[in-house]
Amino acid sequence: MASKQADILLPAFAATAVEAIPEICATSRETFRSLKTKDLDYRKVQLRRLYWAIVDHRPQLEEAMLRDLRKGRYESNFTEIDWVAKTCLFALENLDKWAKEEPIGSPSVPLHFWPNKIRTRKEPLGTVLVIGAYNFPFSLSVDPVVGAIAAGCTAVLKPSEGAPNVAMAIKDIFDKALDPGAYRVVNGAVPETTALLDQKWDKIFYTGGAQVARIICAKAAENLTPVALELGGRNPAFVTRNADLKLAARRLLWGKTLNAGQVCLSHNYVLVEREVLDEFIRQLNVAFNQSFPEGAKASPDLARIINERHFLRIKAMLDQTSGKIVMGGEMDQSELFMSPTAVLVNSADDSMMVQESFGPTFSIIPFDTLGQAIDIANKVDPTPLSLFGFGTRDEFNKLIHSVTSGGATFNDSFMHASLGNVPFGGVGGSGTGAYRGKASFDTFTHFRTIAETPAWAEGSLRVRYQPYDWSQLRLMRWLEKKKVNFDRDGRITHGASYWLKYLLGLGAANKKSAVLRWLVIVFAWYSYTVRSR
Ligand code: NAD
Repeated sequence: MASKQADILLPAFAATAVEAIPEICATSRETFRSLKTKDLDYRKVQLRRLYWAIVDHRPQLEEAMLRDLRKGRYESNFTEIDWVAKTCLFALENLDKWAKEEPIGSPSVPLHFWPNKIRTRKEPLGTVLVIGAYNFPFSLSVDPVVGAIAAGCTAVLKPSEGAPNVAMAIKDIFDKALDPGAYRVVNGAVPETTALLDQKWDKIFYTGGAQVARIICAKAAENLTPVALELGGRNPAFVTRNADLKLAARRLLWGKTLNAGQVCLSHNYVLVEREVLDEFIRQLNVAFNQSFPEGAKASPDLARIINERHFLRIKAMLDQTSGKIVMGGEMDQSELFMSPTAVLVNSADDSMMVQESFGPTFSIIPFDTLGQAIDIANKVDPTPLSLFGFGTRDEFNKLIHSVTSGGATFNDSFMHASLGNVPFGGVGGSGTGAYRGKASFDTFTHFRTIAETPAWAEGSLRVRYQPYDWSQLRLMRWLEKKKVNFDRDGRITHGASYWLKYLLGLGAANKKSAVLRWLVIVFAWYSYTVRSR
């Protein structure tokens, strides 16, 4: 669907010729070998140019997102264009600090090895491949590349063909703004990605589904290439009887309306304590009517499902459910419109529960005890990407203690991943590795330990040379000797100094008990002196 800005020309999607891919990768690798990307000023120029290109291509990007996802301009700016522009600025502001060598001294380096200078250099990994996903087609593709540029890598980016207009807009931005020898976009689908995976990379950064992640890992393993995987999962939300139900409903509904719920982080199901189930559902409907007073379909703020394949996938989940629709339910295939929809189900095996919805639909399952809810969550997906708890802080602490997830938020939907510079990543089936902020720099960096041993330090190194001399080893043991505070059963043991500190109320002892002990000491001393008179 075109906007009022229809006069904005967007190039038709054109896949990169498969035969050209080896040459593109070779050029990127040659540029890395030229060492020019190691220069911090070079990286900064690339980041500045990228920043301005994003700002200057705002209308094209807005139009492209409108056409690909019917994403409104507000959301396109909020979650993608402004987001990546800010990422560039944050990298520019912090690059000197991140890239600085870090000296390593005591206690990591024992005192008797002091003549050695040890430091960590932050070195770019090399030439990296970034593969993006369709749901946030701009930010999920370009954000990791910002990290790669900051780290001093060269990169080839393969945006998702699922959002073809954005893929072409990204190519346009890269071609105009970045060093073409170092940073290139390859557009296409499976054949082009396969050709890319046939090349040797120093890291592959992939965002998308688990099925393709397996293909990527298998190809990466051939060259022992490290990977970062940003995947999905079936994310649980928990609402207990202690929750503010109005707030929980409003915030959880938002998690399923942003980008029409095509968010890897949004909840797939909500476990609700039975006692507050009816009220929670009522509040969901109140929040729905507040967000979409004219109905969801009429709202200019609700994106559409990316394509018919995904529309039919989500529709099938709804068609096969044994549950009951308790909010929304409207859909229109001709427009790929799907209303935010909640389904009350009674089994974790329901069609609504057995796969990630990755759309505006979610299920609700009642529970009687928090322990029961935890068991359901661990059975449905032991390593989801996110988890949300609404209730008391103690309940939330119990949840994050008992259920693993990539990240978690108390009292909100995905706040933990709504801040662009906070590390973000999955665990187990929901991914490996993290990025954003400094983590984006780190994920493309090799932390290289460097030692410098001066010639005059020979005396301090006698211990390592043959013929071995036991007195040297004994001397080193004596110099490095540490008194341990645990016995052979792993129990902590306390020496005299601990008990003295304990009696005097110093150290780790808590203040109340220290005061009490002092009172006992003063009383004992007083009774002793009175008696002895
Ligand atoms: P997608 O269809 O956009 O595919 C992702 C990428 O994989 C694309 O660039 C595509 O070209 C490539 N690809 C597809 N088939 C391939 C093949 N056979 N060989 C090589 N490459 C191939 O996205 P998707 O995979 O449908 O994404 C949806 C999934 O991504 C969901 O599970 C979602 O949770 C997850 N996701 C995760 C994050 C995150 O940051 N953790 C973000 C967005 C999406």
